[in-house]
Amino acid sequence: MEFRIGQGYDVHALAEGLPMWLGGVRIPSQSGFVAHSDGDVAIHALCDALLGALALGDIGHLFPDTDDRWKGVDSKELLATVLALPAFRGWSVVNADITIALQAPKLAPHIAQMRRTLAGVMGIGEDRVSVKATTTERLGFVGRREGCEVWAIVLIERK
Ligand code: MG
Repeated sequence: MEFRIGQGYDVHALAEGLPMWLGGVRIPSQSGFVAHSDGDVAIHALCDALLGALALGDIGHLFPDTDDRWKGVDSKELLATVLALPAFRGWSVVNADITIALQAPKLAPHIAQMRRTLAGVMGIGEDRVSVKATTTERLGFVGRREGCEVWAIVLIERK
C-alpha cells in the first residue's frame, strides 16, 4: 500500500453583496468572496492539497482564471474534476482536515453540512472529513473582515 499526503492553502477577499460559498455550502452572509469561480476558498484549498499529494501543481494552473469555462463555476465541480484526473486512478482519499479562518459569520451551524457535502463529492464517509473554523480574534486581514484563509491537509492511499 502506498500513501501520499498533501497540503493546500487559499485566501479570498470579501466584498459586500457577493454570495458566500464555503465547503460547498451557501452561507447566509452580507458579503461573499471575490473570485473568478464561486469563490469557495475551502474547496480551493482542498483541491490544492489533493493536487499537492500527487505533485500535480495547483488549481490556478489547472483552472486558469483567464479561462471562461471556469467563470462562476461551482467549486464542487472543480473538486470532482481534480479527483477525476487520470493521475488519481487507483487512489482514494483516506481523510481530509480543513481549517477555515473567518471573522464572521459564525460557521458552527454549517460545519456538518460542509462535511457531508465534501464527503459526498469525494465519495467517502463524512467521518473522514474534518472541517474546523476559527476567527483570528479580530487580528489581521481576517480579523478586519477583509478576507478568509483556509488550510487543508489530505491523505490518499493506493492499494
Ligand atoms: Mg481560490
